[in-house]
Amino acid sequence: MNSFIQRCIEPDCQTEYKIDERLYVCSRCGGLLDVVWGDTVVDADSLRKLWRERKSSLDVRDRSGVWRFREFLPFAEDVEVVSLGEGNTPLYEAPRSADYCRLSHLKLKHQGCNPTGSFKDTGMTVAVTQARKLGAQLVVCASTGNTAASLAAYAARAELRCAIIVPGGQVSHAKLAQALDYGAKVLEVEGNFDSCMNVIRELSEDGAVYLVNSINPFRIEGQKTVAFELAEQLEWRVPDHLVLPGGNLGNSSAFGKGFRELLRSGLIDRLPKITVVQAAGAAPFARFYREHDAFVNEEHPQTLASAIKIGAPVSWPKAWRAVSETGGSVITVTEQEIADAKAVIGRDGIGCEPASATTVAGIRKLISERAIQEDETVVAVLTGHLLKDTDYVMKYHSDSLIAPDGERLASNFGNSPIRVPASLKMIRALL
Ligand SMILES: *Cc1c(COP(=O)(O)O)cnc(C)c1O
Ligand SMILES: [Zn+2]
Repeated sequence: MNSFIQRCIEPDCQTEYKIDERLYVCSRCGGLLDVVWGDTVVDADSLRKLWRERKSSLDVRDRSGVWRFREFLPFAEDVEVVSLGEGNTPLYEAPRSADYCRLSHLKLKHQGCNPTGSFKDTGMTVAVTQARKLGAQLVVCASTGNTAASLAAYAARAELRCAIIVPGGQVSHAKLAQALDYGAKVLEVEGNFDSCMNVIRELSEDGAVYLVNSINPFRIEGQKTVAFELAEQLEWRVPDHLVLPGGNLGNSSAFGKGFRELLRSGLIDRLPKITVVQAAGAAPFARFYREHDAFVNEEHPQTLASAIKIGAPVSWPKAWRAVSETGGSVITVTEQEIADAKAVIGRDGIGCEPASATTVAGIRKLISERAIQEDETVVAVLTGHLLKDTDYVMKYHSDSLIAPDGERLASNFGNSPIRVPASLKMIRALL
């Protein structure tokens, strides 16, 4: 229906490339690439109706919360998609978390409810579909864990060989276990995520290898559909604020692009303010936002929220566009704030992994600073599932969670297990 191309995002370059040209950054200036499409007029009402009707269809593409919105994806109608039924994640009302933030209502969009337990699946279905279309033989990524788990699963579905490069000893067992079970070749590198990223960029210069880190614009295309799904769940009424964690900043970029395209197509009438929350020890983007100076990477990123322990975020220019266009902000929260917010989200019966809890911690902070008003509509994006990092959870609840600086964190909402003999009397006494 539309003609899609890839285009460099640098304002003074904007070099255009064919949609199926295999490249990750602009070959002229090294800038990031966007997938863009011509000005086809869409009829907002009939699109909304079509997308809704697809929910009751049995077609694989219609069952997917990503491919259901395929009018906005750069593929022909008859493309064979690699899908695990991603997307279609719940939007929860979270009264305890709202109370904790001193907000009248708070909604949590739980992307941890994807097939491999994180939002990465919404991008991976599109990137691996593109990999297969290009005839790639080997798909690779560097990862703090969730991208690896997701790629391994989708590569297995597509019957593509898969290698993932992770920082040795720094990835949670649950995430590593997923990648191993899905049959990926797992390479543990001495160094942190940023050193993995450097290796992989060189590796992907080989033509048979396809790189699916979030620098890959097709990942962003899939992830942007979460904005569509969210807008639909809110009956096309955009919230005042959208708050999400920031690591490599692909997710923030994708939400920005998704909402921008919805606005341009007349499906929504304004943009939410997009606020990105980073862990204080891994916050180069927050520093950039505060100082409005050159972007400086963080040499030694530190946080227990391993999914956002990233010092050199590749997608920051796109994420910056999302934050500045929407009038949002970039803030930091401490390890203690993350740990407590995570436990509060758990008390809502929802739960998430540590990185996701930066959102509720961040909202609480923004309200106390009056940057968010109590009666505004706020949606936080939970990026990963509670079971992704149970080690962290067990330590928090047993009062033994140690922050990277060596300080023991307080278990303000701790709930430790109680050892008791198998005696009815003693158990009764405890209940
Ligand atoms: C990948 C990931 C993030 C960070 O997303 P970016 O796109 O890298 O900013 C946050 N939380 C979880 C659970 C993730 O898996
Ligand atoms: Zn360029």
